[in-house]
Amino acid sequence: MKENINENRLKEQCIEMAAILGLDVPVPEKVLLTALADPNYAHHLLVVRNETEYLNYLLMHPPAVAEQVAIDIPTPTLLKRAAQSLLKWAGTGFSTVSNETYERRVNACKTCPNLRVPSSDQNALYSISGAMNHKSVCSKCGCVVKVKARRGTDTCPDKHPFKVGENRWEEEYLETENN
Ligand code: SF4
Repeated sequence: MKENINENRLKEQCIEMAAILGLDVPVPEKVLLTALADPNYAHHLLVVRNETEYLNYLLMHPPAVAEQVAIDIPTPTLLKRAAQSLLKWAGTGFSTVSNETYERRVNACKTCPNLRVPSSDQNALYSISGAMNHKSVCSKCGCVVKVKARRGTDTCPDKHPFKVGENRWEEEYLETENN
C-alpha cells in the first residue's frame, strides 16, 4: 500500500516535470530524480525545452551519476519538498546566485550546527547527490546544502544567532514550513 502511494506520487511529479518542459507524456523517473539532484542537468533541460532534438537527447541521456545508483522511492516528505523546491526554482527560469553569494552561503553552512551526515537509511536523492557519509545535509530542511546554496529561490531556514531579521546566510529571514 505504502509502495503504491510512493509510486503514485513519483508518477505525479514526473507529470508535473513534463508540464514544465512542455511534454505530453511524463518524464522517465530517472530523469526526474537526476534533475532533482543535479541543478546543471535541470538547468540544461529547461534551456533546451523548445529544441525538440536536444531535449530528447537529454531525456534519453541523463548524467552517468544517476545510472550508477539503483533508484528507490524517496520518502514522500522529502520528495515533496525537493519537488516543490524544483518547481519554485523552475518558475524563475532556474535562476542561480553569483559565485560570491554561493561561497558566503556554503561557508555559513560549513560552520552551522544544523549541518548533518545523512543517516544510512536515507534515500536515493542523497546518494545521487554524492552527499552520503559526510556532513552535507541541512537537518532543518533536508536539503543538500551545496545544491540548495546555488539556487536563487532557496533560503536558509534558521535564524542567525546574532543578527535580528537575518538567517544564517546573512539574508532576510523568512518564515517557511521548514522553520
Ligand atoms: S541552510 Fe542554514 S540552517 Fe541549513 S545548514 Fe545551511 S546555514 Fe545551517
